[in-house]
Amino acid sequence: MAKRDYYEVLGVQKGATKDEIKKGYRKVAIKFHPDKNPGNKEAEEKFKEATEAYEVLSDDKKRQIYDQYGFDGLEGMGGATSGGYSHAFHDFEDIFGGSGFGDIFSDLFGGASMGGGSRSQRTSNQGASLRYDLEIPFKDAVYGTKVEITFAHNEVCDSCHGTGGQAGSKKKTCPTCGGAGQVRRSAGFFSVAQTCSTCGGTGSVIDNPCKVCGGSGLQKKRKKIKITIPAGVDEGKRIAIPRQGDCGKNGGAAGDLIVFLHVKGHQYFERSGQDLYCAVPISISQATLGAEIFVTTLNDKKIKLKIPAGTQNEKLLRIRGEGVPFAGGARKGDFYIKIVVEIPTHLSSKAKQALQEYASLMDENTSPKPVLLSELRKS
Ligand SMILES: [Zn+2]
Ligand SMILES: [Zn+2]
Repeated sequence: MAKRDYYEVLGVQKGATKDEIKKGYRKVAIKFHPDKNPGNKEAEEKFKEATEAYEVLSDDKKRQIYDQYGFDGLEGMGGATSGGYSHAFHDFEDIFGGSGFGDIFSDLFGGASMGGGSRSQRTSNQGASLRYDLEIPFKDAVYGTKVEITFAHNEVCDSCHGTGGQAGSKKKTCPTCGGAGQVRRSAGFFSVAQTCSTCGGTGSVIDNPCKVCGGSGLQKKRKKIKITIPAGVDEGKRIAIPRQGDCGKNGGAAGDLIVFLHVKGHQYFERSGQDLYCAVPISISQATLGAEIFVTTLNDKKIKLKIPAGTQNEKLLRIRGEGVPFAGGARKGDFYIKIVVEIPTHLSSKAKQALQEYASLMDENTSPKPVLLSELRKS
């Protein structure tokens, strides 16, 4: 289908004012809106066509380019054909208001959002969710723990039990909105309903506000709770404690308390995913001849570790299943031990003699060739 002229699509003249373009789009969009024409492909196309036209003609820059160069000029600007409907999205609620046109834009154009417009202005009585930052020891993150935390949040006022009024005070109709709870604000040809800020949407105000909470019905209080840190959590993990955030106004639901976990570093242990790492020193004779040593896990368990004969410095040895528990706790990662071969610096004369004897038995190379870097990286 050949593209129709944008002005024609919106049913306006070429020199139309912004207001006329807006009105034209509104008329076409309402007529062909997919909610009103369910399953009608043609209507959906017409709706998209109008939206595209509006996106261009409502933008001074794009409109100028279109007027001068037509469709070709808009190519590559992003917004004439696909994507880039942000501008139109933004006007969307402005144009249709709260008339229940739903999320049709995201349905049609693939998940793009409404661009944060008036949607969020609908106030809710829900209390705020709160953030609590908690630092925990490395070991507690691995094996889990219970922690008592103290925090401050809004609770229902003791004095007025959340009503916001002194004992015996009466409610009277809100003078700002006349009891409607909403005020209408004019936005071009169209007016938007907003929650009344004087009464918070309730339609009434209290003649004698509570002296303790100042009429909000809420009171800041400290609270102590015990929280469970599951085994295997890592830095940045969040734990939501339901309904421990701020209480809502006028009986609204409480928000959550979100605990952000921070894990302290450990002196000896490191972690990568569900695997634990530590480094242990062995002697050159242990490395050369092989040995059995005992390593201590993060939870102080002693485990026998076999060092194979000829173990090189920095070799990683693995003990299976002694790492960090996966969520659910049934499975664990592994425990890796990095071998650090220690070169003795102080030898007894007897040991020195023995080592010299060893050296004389070896055909010691006095002109070594460089090590292949590729070999070095393998270990
Ligand atoms: Zn109160
Ligand atoms: Zn009001």
